[in-house]
Amino acid sequence: MAEGILLIISGPSGVGKGTVCRFLLKIRDALKLSVSTTTRPPRPGEVDGKEYNFTTTSCFKEMINNGSFLEWAVVHDHYYGTRRDKVRELLDKGEDLILEIDVQGAEQIREKEPDAVSIFLAPPSMADLEKRITGRGTEEPDKIFARLETARREMAAYRFYDYLVVNDTVKNAALLIASIIDAEKSRVSRGARPPCWGGEKNDLSFY
Ligand code: 5GP
Repeated sequence: MAEGILLIISGPSGVGKGTVCRFLLKIRDALKLSVSTTTRPPRPGEVDGKEYNFTTTSCFKEMINNGSFLEWAVVHDHYYGTRRDKVRELLDKGEDLILEIDVQGAEQIREKEPDAVSIFLAPPSMADLEKRITGRGTEEPDKIFARLETARREMAAYRFYDYLVVNDTVKNAALLIASIIDAEKSRVSRGARPPCWGGEKNDLSFY
């Protein structure tokens, strides 16, 4: 069985990665979204094990020392990480898996998993991004400035990704990502084969 695709969806803070991923999962229900581990406290409505696995800083550090994470990073003063064993388990089963992570994590995955496909989600303009960060109401006013600064820095990382998708509307962005997945799955180098193909080197009898 062909291994599943590991898809990194990344981009600056506030660009709408979560919303685009949720839409994508609605139109492609076979896709799986990796549940990260974090030391950030849950926001109202967030459920442990669903949006994140919430943990303490000491547990997180122990997991780092045990090599449990495929990647981890500190984002806005909290730890976030992707469990290595969970990713392997799903990919080995042939599942296509999305990692919705920040640019530091994406850099680590690109080094460790060269077959991963990385997508940078960009805002239609910097003014739009600033509006989203200041307007989403989940942050303390004193944290907004830091978020804006980080977002500007993160934008510069786009050049290291395989694909650039502009989040002009959630639907357009999600449809474009779905097309990228389709194109990647059609790659012969990823194991795409003609139907009824016996696998023999010269077996062209079907055609
Ligand atoms: P939030 O706390 O707003 O859900 O996420 C803050 C940032 O952390 C977002 O940019 C999100 O993509 C990123 N993030 C979430 N999970 C992970 C993870 O497992 N690893 C890394 N490196 N970043 C993550």
